[in-house]
Amino acid sequence: MAAPRVASALKLHALSILEDDCAGSLEAACAFFAARGIVIEVLSRQRLQGFPSDLPIRTDPGELTPQQADLYAHREIWPLDELAVFFVGSLPPMLCRGFSHPALSLCVVALGSPPLTLAHELGHLLGLEHVEDPENLMYLRGPRGTEAVLDQAQIRRMAASPILSSDTRS
Ligand SMILES: [Zn+2]
Repeated sequence: MAAPRVASALKLHALSILEDDCAGSLEAACAFFAARGIVIEVLSRQRLQGFPSDLPIRTDPGELTPQQADLYAHREIWPLDELAVFFVGSLPPMLCRGFSHPALSLCVVALGSPPLTLAHELGHLLGLEHVEDPENLMYLRGPRGTEAVLDQAQIRRMAASPILSSDTRS
């Protein structure tokens, strides 16, 4: 199925509290979105020191743990159309392998997640919601394998996201 070429750019910063910089997750997300007309521009990559890999984390943005607030403070220097991706060691079991805070323009992904977990969280940040199709990137339990689909309505919805900018690379 041919995807419309929207030639948009999704800018992000990747921050890891681990030795592992989770390059595989970034590569999988870049490839997934590139095939759908969205170029991911990784503006920076950083290793953050001093955080435990089992950093206590809550999903409610109104109830962040103090350590989580310290972690998120690293994204405050960037405008909201530059997403921050935080790689952490583990997440509480009910959170699956990642989650996103659209209002804060960030997502959190656990080490060892299925390869398209980051792409799924970026899908949320681009305005997509969960669906019940297990083959879809936005399956409510998260993508399992290395392949997933998006339908044309989902692609159009992402293309309309205000956090995308025109791709300035040529
Ligand atoms: Zn989700």
